[in-house]
Amino acid sequence: MQEKKAALLSRFGERVFAGRWIAGPYISDAIAVASRFNGNGVGAIINYLGEALSERKDISDTMSTYSSLIGSISAGHADAHISVKPTQIGLGISYPYAKKNYLKLVKAAKSKGLFIWLDMEESDKVDDTIRLYRSASKSGNAGICIQSYLRRSERDVARIALEGGVIRLVKGAYTEPEEVAYATRKEVTQNYYRLMQLLFKNSHKFMIATHDMAIIKKAIALNRKYKREMELAMLNGIRNLDAVSLAREGHSVRVYIPFGPSWFKYSTRRLREAGHASLIARSLFSRQRI
Ligand SMILES: Cc1cc2nc3c(=O)[nH]c(=O)nc-3n(C[C@H](O)[C@H](O)[C@H](O)COP(=O)(O)OP(=O)(O)OC[C@H]3O[C@@H](n4cnc5c(N)ncnc54)[C@H](O)[C@@H]3O)c2cc1C
Repeated sequence: MQEKKAALLSRFGERVFAGRWIAGPYISDAIAVASRFNGNGVGAIINYLGEALSERKDISDTMSTYSSLIGSISAGHADAHISVKPTQIGLGISYPYAKKNYLKLVKAAKSKGLFIWLDMEESDKVDDTIRLYRSASKSGNAGICIQSYLRRSERDVARIALEGGVIRLVKGAYTEPEEVAYATRKEVTQNYYRLMQLLFKNSHKFMIATHDMAIIKKAIALNRKYKREMELAMLNGIRNLDAVSLAREGHSVRVYIPFGPSWFKYSTRRLREAGHASLIARSLFSRQRI
Protein backbone atom coordinates (compact mmCIF):
# COMPACT_ATOMS: atom_id res chain seq x y z
CA MET A 1 0.00 0.00 0.00
CA GLN A 2 2.79 2.39 1.05
CA GLU A 3 4.73 1.51 -2.11
CA LYS A 4 1.68 2.11 -4.28
CA LYS A 5 1.16 5.50 -2.63
CA ALA A 6 4.83 6.44 -3.18
CA ALA A 7 4.67 5.39 -6.83
CA LEU A 8 1.49 7.42 -7.39
CA LEU A 9 3.05 10.46 -5.71
CA SER A 10 6.17 10.02 -7.83
CA ARG A 11 4.14 9.85 -11.05
CA PHE A 12 2.15 12.93 -10.03
CA GLY A 13 5.34 14.89 -9.27
CA GLU A 14 6.94 13.80 -12.50
CA ARG A 15 3.90 14.87 -14.52
CA VAL A 16 3.53 18.26 -12.79
CA PHE A 17 7.22 19.16 -12.94
CA ALA A 18 8.21 17.41 -16.17
CA GLY A 19 6.14 19.83 -18.24
CA ARG A 20 7.44 22.92 -16.43
CA TRP A 21 10.97 22.86 -15.12
CA ILE A 22 12.16 19.51 -16.47
CA ALA A 23 12.09 18.54 -20.14
CA GLY A 24 11.18 14.89 -19.49
CA PRO A 25 13.03 11.62 -18.84
CA TYR A 26 14.90 11.26 -22.14
CA ILE A 27 17.60 12.98 -24.21
CA SER A 28 15.03 13.37 -26.98
CA ASP A 29 12.82 15.38 -24.55
CA ALA A 30 15.68 17.76 -23.79
CA ILE A 31 16.55 18.17 -27.47
CA ALA A 32 12.89 18.84 -28.32
CA VAL A 33 12.65 21.62 -25.67
CA ALA A 34 16.04 23.04 -26.72
CA SER A 35 14.89 23.10 -30.36
CA ARG A 36 11.73 25.01 -29.41
CA PHE A 37 13.87 27.61 -27.63
CA ASN A 38 16.34 27.69 -30.53
CA GLY A 39 13.43 28.37 -32.88
CA ASN A 40 12.71 31.45 -30.79
CA GLY A 41 16.27 32.71 -30.81
CA VAL A 42 17.19 31.32 -27.37
CA GLY A 43 20.12 28.96 -26.79
CA ALA A 44 20.05 26.04 -24.38
CA ILE A 45 22.17 24.56 -21.60
CA ILE A 46 21.24 20.91 -21.09
CA ASN A 47 21.78 19.11 -17.78
CA TYR A 48 21.17 15.44 -17.02
CA LEU A 49 19.56 15.33 -13.58
CA GLY A 50 21.41 13.48 -10.84
CA GLU A 51 23.70 14.35 -7.95
CA ALA A 52 25.55 12.87 -4.98
CA LEU A 53 26.22 9.63 -6.83
CA SER A 54 28.28 7.14 -4.88
CA GLU A 55 28.11 4.02 -7.07
CA ARG A 56 30.55 3.65 -9.96
CA LYS A 57 27.86 1.95 -12.03
CA ASP A 58 25.56 5.02 -11.72
CA ILE A 59 28.44 7.35 -12.57
CA SER A 60 29.39 5.27 -15.56
CA ASP A 61 25.74 5.32 -16.76
CA THR A 62 25.73 9.11 -16.30
CA MET A 63 28.93 9.41 -18.35
CA SER A 64 27.33 7.34 -21.13
CA THR A 65 24.24 9.55 -21.06
CA TYR A 66 26.38 12.68 -21.40
CA SER A 67 28.31 11.10 -24.29
CA SER A 68 25.03 10.32 -26.05
CA LEU A 69 23.77 13.82 -25.28
CA ILE A 70 26.87 15.37 -26.86
CA GLY A 71 26.30 13.18 -29.94
CA SER A 72 22.61 14.13 -30.16
CA ILE A 73 23.21 17.86 -29.78
CA SER A 74 25.84 17.75 -32.45
CA ALA A 75 23.83 15.50 -34.81
CA GLY A 76 20.74 17.72 -34.46
CA HIS A 77 22.78 20.93 -34.83
CA ALA A 78 21.07 22.31 -31.71
CA ASP A 79 22.46 25.48 -30.13
CA ALA A 80 23.07 23.89 -26.74
CA HIS A 81 25.77 23.85 -24.09
CA ILE A 82 25.91 21.04 -21.56
CA SER A 83 26.22 21.40 -17.78
CA VAL A 84 27.39 18.71 -15.37
CA LYS A 85 27.44 18.40 -11.58
CA PRO A 86 30.77 17.31 -10.05
CA THR A 87 29.03 14.76 -7.79
CA GLN A 88 27.38 13.06 -10.74
CA ILE A 89 30.72 12.38 -12.40
CA GLY A 90 32.54 10.99 -9.38
CA LEU A 91 33.52 13.71 -6.89
CA GLY A 92 31.81 11.69 -4.13
CA ILE A 93 34.23 8.83 -4.82
CA SER A 94 37.52 10.68 -5.33
CA TYR A 95 38.90 13.82 -6.90
CA PRO A 96 41.13 11.95 -9.42
CA TYR A 97 38.16 9.87 -10.59
CA ALA A 98 35.99 12.97 -11.08
CA LYS A 99 38.84 14.73 -12.88
CA LYS A 100 39.35 11.83 -15.28
CA ASN A 101 35.62 11.82 -16.10
CA TYR A 102 35.41 15.62 -16.37
CA LEU A 103 38.38 15.83 -18.76
CA LYS A 104 36.85 13.06 -20.85
CA LEU A 105 33.63 15.08 -21.21
CA VAL A 106 35.47 18.35 -21.92
CA LYS A 107 37.39 16.58 -24.69
CA ALA A 108 34.27 14.90 -26.13
CA ALA A 109 32.40 18.23 -26.09
CA LYS A 110 35.32 20.02 -27.70
CA SER A 111 35.52 17.47 -30.49
CA LYS A 112 31.94 18.46 -31.42
CA GLY A 113 32.45 22.18 -30.87
CA LEU A 114 30.30 22.25 -27.70
CA PHE A 115 30.70 24.32 -24.55
CA ILE A 116 30.58 22.51 -21.18
CA TRP A 117 29.75 24.04 -17.78
CA LEU A 118 30.47 22.78 -14.29
CA ASP A 119 27.48 23.36 -12.00
CA MET A 120 28.31 24.48 -8.47
CA GLU A 121 26.89 22.40 -5.62
CA GLU A 122 27.16 22.73 -1.80
CA SER A 123 29.89 24.89 -0.26
CA ASP A 124 32.04 21.94 0.88
CA LYS A 125 32.59 21.10 -2.81
CA VAL A 126 33.64 24.53 -4.05
CA ASP A 127 37.42 24.00 -3.67
CA ASP A 128 37.36 20.72 -5.59
CA THR A 129 34.97 22.08 -8.22
CA ILE A 130 37.24 25.06 -8.91
CA ARG A 131 40.25 22.70 -8.97
CA LEU A 132 38.42 20.53 -11.50
CA TYR A 133 37.62 23.58 -13.60
CA ARG A 134 41.20 24.87 -13.52
CA SER A 135 42.35 21.52 -14.92
CA ALA A 136 40.41 22.33 -18.11
CA SER A 137 39.96 26.09 -18.16
CA LYS A 138 42.50 26.49 -20.96
CA SER A 139 40.51 24.14 -23.21
CA GLY A 140 38.50 27.09 -24.52
CA ASN A 141 35.15 25.31 -24.22
CA ALA A 142 34.63 25.17 -20.44
CA GLY A 143 32.97 27.39 -17.85
CA ILE A 144 32.12 27.24 -14.15
CA CYS A 145 29.22 28.40 -12.01
CA ILE A 146 29.94 30.72 -9.06
CA GLN A 147 27.35 31.58 -6.38
CA SER A 148 26.89 35.11 -5.02
CA TYR A 149 25.54 33.85 -1.67
CA LEU A 150 29.00 32.57 -0.72
CA ARG A 151 31.22 35.02 1.18
CA ARG A 152 34.32 33.57 -0.55
CA SER A 153 33.07 34.17 -4.10
CA GLU A 154 34.68 37.59 -4.58
CA ARG A 155 38.10 35.96 -4.29
CA ASP A 156 37.08 33.10 -6.57
CA VAL A 157 35.67 35.42 -9.23
CA ALA A 158 38.80 37.62 -9.13
CA ARG A 159 41.12 34.65 -9.51
CA ILE A 160 39.17 32.82 -12.20
CA ALA A 161 38.68 36.03 -14.21
CA LEU A 162 42.39 36.83 -13.93
CA GLU A 163 43.18 33.38 -15.36
CA GLY A 164 40.79 33.96 -18.29
CA GLY A 165 38.12 31.54 -17.05
CA VAL A 166 34.45 31.78 -17.99
CA ILE A 167 32.02 32.30 -15.10
CA ARG A 168 28.27 31.72 -14.91
CA LEU A 169 27.15 33.91 -12.03
CA VAL A 170 24.14 32.74 -9.97
CA LYS A 171 22.74 33.59 -6.54
CA GLY A 172 23.02 30.00 -5.23
CA ALA A 173 20.46 27.27 -4.65
CA TYR A 174 21.52 25.26 -1.58
CA THR A 175 20.96 25.79 2.14
CA GLU A 176 24.25 26.99 3.62
CA PRO A 177 25.39 27.99 7.13
CA GLU A 178 25.89 31.69 7.90
CA GLU A 179 29.65 31.27 8.38
CA VAL A 180 30.03 30.65 4.67
CA ALA A 181 27.01 32.32 3.08
CA TYR A 182 25.09 35.60 3.28
CA ALA A 183 21.84 34.96 5.06
CA THR A 184 19.45 37.50 3.57
CA ARG A 185 18.18 37.85 0.03
CA LYS A 186 19.24 41.50 0.12
CA GLU A 187 22.89 40.66 0.93
CA VAL A 188 22.96 37.90 -1.69
CA THR A 189 21.63 40.33 -4.31
CA GLN A 190 24.07 43.09 -3.25
CA ASN A 191 26.93 40.65 -3.59
CA TYR A 192 25.61 39.61 -7.01
CA TYR A 193 25.90 43.26 -8.14
CA ARG A 194 29.43 43.44 -6.69
CA LEU A 195 30.57 40.28 -8.47
CA MET A 196 28.89 41.35 -11.69
CA GLN A 197 30.87 44.62 -11.61
CA LEU A 198 34.04 42.58 -11.11
CA LEU A 199 33.17 40.47 -14.14
CA PHE A 200 32.52 43.50 -16.34
CA LYS A 201 35.85 45.02 -15.31
CA ASN A 202 38.02 41.90 -15.44
CA SER A 203 36.45 39.33 -17.72
CA HIS A 204 35.65 39.31 -21.42
CA LYS A 205 33.19 36.45 -21.49
CA PHE A 206 30.66 35.45 -18.80
CA MET A 207 27.06 34.52 -18.13
CA ILE A 208 24.55 36.41 -15.97
CA ALA A 209 22.21 33.65 -14.79
CA THR A 210 19.21 34.98 -12.88
CA HIS A 211 15.48 35.71 -13.13
CA ASP A 212 15.95 38.94 -11.17
CA MET A 213 14.85 41.49 -13.77
CA ALA A 214 16.53 44.41 -11.94
CA ILE A 215 19.89 42.63 -12.20
CA ILE A 216 19.25 41.76 -15.85
CA LYS A 217 18.46 45.42 -16.68
CA LYS A 218 21.63 46.55 -14.92
CA ALA A 219 23.71 43.93 -16.76
CA ILE A 220 22.32 45.07 -20.10
CA ALA A 221 23.10 48.70 -19.23
CA LEU A 222 26.65 47.84 -18.12
CA ASN A 223 27.24 45.88 -21.29
CA ARG A 224 26.43 48.95 -23.39
CA LYS A 225 29.51 50.50 -21.79
CA TYR A 226 31.84 47.49 -21.52
CA LYS A 227 30.77 45.53 -24.65
CA ARG A 228 31.63 42.11 -23.23
CA GLU A 229 30.72 38.69 -24.57
CA MET A 230 27.85 38.44 -22.09
CA GLU A 231 25.05 35.89 -22.15
CA LEU A 232 21.91 36.03 -20.01
CA ALA A 233 20.52 32.75 -18.70
CA MET A 234 17.40 31.49 -16.96
CA LEU A 235 16.05 28.15 -15.80
CA ASN A 236 13.44 26.44 -17.96
CA GLY A 237 9.87 27.03 -16.82
CA ILE A 238 10.35 30.18 -14.75
CA ARG A 239 10.43 33.14 -17.12
CA ASN A 240 10.42 31.48 -20.56
CA LEU A 241 8.50 34.29 -22.21
CA ASP A 242 10.91 36.90 -20.78
CA ALA A 243 13.82 34.84 -22.15
CA VAL A 244 12.27 34.95 -25.62
CA SER A 245 11.54 38.70 -25.34
CA LEU A 246 15.12 39.42 -24.31
CA ALA A 247 16.38 37.40 -27.27
CA ARG A 248 14.04 39.32 -29.60
CA GLU A 249 15.50 42.56 -28.26
CA GLY A 250 18.85 41.30 -29.52
CA HIS A 251 20.41 39.93 -26.32
CA SER A 252 22.16 36.61 -26.19
CA VAL A 253 20.05 34.35 -23.95
CA ARG A 254 20.17 30.71 -22.88
CA VAL A 255 17.77 28.56 -20.90
CA TYR A 256 19.00 25.78 -18.63
CA ILE A 257 17.03 22.61 -19.42
CA PRO A 258 17.31 19.64 -17.06
CA PHE A 259 16.11 16.21 -18.10
CA GLY A 260 16.17 12.68 -16.70
CA PRO A 261 14.19 10.62 -14.26
CA SER A 262 15.76 12.05 -11.06
CA TRP A 263 13.46 15.07 -10.83
CA PHE A 264 12.98 15.24 -7.05
CA LYS A 265 15.96 17.20 -5.63
CA TYR A 266 16.02 19.73 -8.46
CA SER A 267 12.29 20.36 -8.11
CA THR A 268 12.57 20.76 -4.34
CA ARG A 269 15.14 23.55 -4.83
CA ARG A 270 12.86 25.33 -7.34
CA LEU A 271 9.84 25.03 -5.02
CA ARG A 272 11.86 26.45 -2.11
CA GLU A 273 12.95 29.42 -4.23
CA ALA A 274 9.44 30.13 -5.42
CA GLY A 275 8.93 30.69 -1.69
CA HIS A 276 5.30 31.57 -1.52
CA ALA A 277 2.10 30.21 -2.95
CA SER A 278 1.55 32.76 -5.71
CA LEU A 279 5.03 32.24 -7.17
CA ILE A 280 4.68 28.47 -6.89
CA ALA A 281 1.37 28.69 -8.72
CA ARG A 282 2.87 30.99 -11.34
CA SER A 283 5.84 28.73 -11.81
CA LEU A 284 3.75 25.57 -12.09
CA PHE A 285 0.56 26.65 -13.77
CA SER A 286 1.17 29.87 -15.69
CA ARG A 287 1.63 29.71 -19.45
CA GLN A 288 5.32 29.00 -19.91
CA ARG A 289 5.25 27.19 -23.21
CA ILE A 290 6.98 28.91 -26.05
C1 LIG B 1 21.18 29.18 -15.95
C2 LIG B 1 21.20 28.92 -14.49
C3 LIG B 1 22.09 28.00 -13.97
C4 LIG B 1 22.14 27.76 -12.59
N1 LIG B 1 23.09 26.93 -12.06
C5 LIG B 1 23.23 26.83 -10.72
C6 LIG B 1 24.29 26.08 -10.13
O1 LIG B 1 25.12 25.47 -10.83
N2 LIG B 1 24.40 26.08 -8.78
C7 LIG B 1 23.51 26.75 -7.97
O2 LIG B 1 23.67 26.74 -6.75
N3 LIG B 1 22.47 27.42 -8.50
C8 LIG B 1 22.31 27.47 -9.84
N4 LIG B 1 21.25 28.18 -10.37
C9 LIG B 1 20.14 28.60 -9.49
C10 LIG B 1 20.41 29.92 -8.84
O3 LIG B 1 21.45 29.80 -7.89
C11 LIG B 1 19.17 30.42 -8.10
O4 LIG B 1 18.86 29.49 -7.12
C12 LIG B 1 17.95 30.64 -8.99
O5 LIG B 1 18.33 31.17 -10.22
C13 LIG B 1 16.98 31.65 -8.33
O6 LIG B 1 17.65 32.86 -8.09
P1 LIG B 1 17.43 34.20 -8.96
O7 LIG B 1 18.77 34.71 -9.35
O8 LIG B 1 16.51 33.97 -10.06
O9 LIG B 1 16.89 35.25 -7.92
P2 LIG B 1 15.65 35.21 -6.95
O10 LIG B 1 15.79 36.44 -6.12
O11 LIG B 1 15.53 33.89 -6.26
O12 LIG B 1 14.43 35.34 -7.93
C14 LIG B 1 14.20 36.52 -8.68
C15 LIG B 1 12.77 36.45 -9.18
O13 LIG B 1 12.64 35.36 -10.10
C16 LIG B 1 11.42 34.70 -9.93
N5 LIG B 1 11.68 33.30 -9.49
C17 LIG B 1 12.85 32.78 -9.07
N6 LIG B 1 12.72 31.46 -8.81
C18 LIG B 1 11.42 31.16 -9.07
C19 LIG B 1 10.65 29.96 -9.03
N7 LIG B 1 11.19 28.79 -8.68
N8 LIG B 1 9.35 30.02 -9.38
C20 LIG B 1 8.78 31.19 -9.77
N9 LIG B 1 9.46 32.36 -9.85
C21 LIG B 1 10.75 32.35 -9.50
C22 LIG B 1 10.66 35.48 -8.91
O14 LIG B 1 9.91 36.47 -9.57
C23 LIG B 1 11.74 36.13 -8.10
O15 LIG B 1 11.32 37.27 -7.42
C24 LIG B 1 21.21 28.44 -11.73
C25 LIG B 1 20.33 29.37 -12.26
C26 LIG B 1 20.31 29.63 -13.61
C27 LIG B 1 19.36 30.65 -14.13
